[in-house]
Amino acid sequence: MIRIAIDGPGGAGKSSVAKEVAARLGIIYVDTGALYRSIGLYMVNRGISPKDAPAVIAALPDLTLELKFLDGKQIILLNGEDVGTKIRTPEISMAASAVSAIPEVREYLLNAQRDIAKYNSVIMDGRDIGTVILPDAEVKIFLTATPEARAERRHKENLERGIQSSYEQVLAEMNERDKNDSTRAVAPCVQAKDATLLDNSKITREQTVEKVIKIIKKRQKKKTTYMKLHKLLAPLFRFFCRLKVHGLENIPKEGGYLICSNHIAAVDPIYIAAVLKRQIYFIAKKEVLSIPVIGWLVKVLGAISLDRGGNDVGAIKAAVELAKKGELVAIFPQGHRYPGVNPATTPKKNGAALIAYHAGCGVIPVCIKVKKFKYALFRRVDIIIGKPIEYSELLFTDGGYDEYRRVTDKVFDEVVSLGGYAQPLPAPEIEGENN
Ligand code: C5P
Repeated sequence: MIRIAIDGPGGAGKSSVAKEVAARLGIIYVDTGALYRSIGLYMVNRGISPKDAPAVIAALPDLTLELKFLDGKQIILLNGEDVGTKIRTPEISMAASAVSAIPEVREYLLNAQRDIAKYNSVIMDGRDIGTVILPDAEVKIFLTATPEARAERRHKENLERGIQSSYEQVLAEMNERDKNDSTRAVAPCVQAKDATLLDNSKITREQTVEKVIKIIKKRQKKKTTYMKLHKLLAPLFRFFCRLKVHGLENIPKEGGYLICSNHIAAVDPIYIAAVLKRQIYFIAKKEVLSIPVIGWLVKVLGAISLDRGGNDVGAIKAAVELAKKGELVAIFPQGHRYPGVNPATTPKKNGAALIAYHAGCGVIPVCIKVKKFKYALFRRVDIIIGKPIEYSELLFTDGGYDEYRRVTDKVFDEVVSLGGYAQPLPAPEIEGENN
């Protein structure tokens, strides 16, 4: 599944570019502006000023919007009637811009937009797709052009549709709409931090399509390189390290999870990467990254550097973002290597629980056991993968140290039992202590 967000001001050609890209990739194109336009149309038809927020909010329960896709074409039914091209007039453009600044209107449309992307690969265009609607989209593009270039295109479009239009008037309206959209308090039209900026003032629509496809392919290629390398190296690793995996079926095919494992050797992340069929990312200590060969491998295989000395907020944030984006992130909460030691008896850090909480993702417990420690090669390594503990089962309420501690213990209880280790006995109560 892929979710592509294209944001940017009106007239940048988002919809025609997105439509073409969707057709080429065989995915759904969602024009979110049409939803705001439909609400604008409803208000105008009912004689309600789109700027009169209380009146617009009061009228919202009376309207129903249905979004359908026929042969890949989006159709909007407003109270059962296809809005067609009625929403494409300059008057409705301004009405859409006005109603879209009302937080209740945005809230009204929020879930409808998210739901489509939950079950389908989509390319969605709008103003806040990369920032609010799909902050975890795999690809984000901010498509823009100078106001003059955009007004020129819109003016031409209007004439083609038989709408009376003058360039100067279109430019003035476009500037007003830009100002409304980019300065409103809720979900303003701004470039997401991780979006690629694409200015198409001087290039054609076809060239823009090519550039967008290139950005998408580049993102997909990163995964391909990983999988190619994986195909080449994983069998070698599995053979030389005598890796044996148990419970591979417990790794979900999709979705963001944290893999939480005990730590026996610097190569643990590579062991895990070598037995899985999905790409994973690791949080690795800076020291590991500087070990010759192993450091290189870990980096190539998706390491996020963690500075052991302090709290490396950047690495934690990166891990949260990756898990939110539906990736697997491996983390070793023991912080140090404890070969041959029952993980129940070692200290553990709470970073994994903190990441799971902020990413809203589940955790997969993993236990790595090794038969013989003397030689790195040809020792038998067992990688035992437990069933995912879903986010809802982690029972977070509002985060915080105690919750992270409880979740870390819960996950490690699983790691301990996967490895067949004994749980340490609770500290004996000393008689008379409470007296
Ligand atoms: O993209 P389009 O020009 O059809 O959008 C019409 C209006 O709807 C925009 O001017 C903007 O105010 C609003 N809109 C929005 N958020 C979106 C899409 C459109 O606020 N995601």
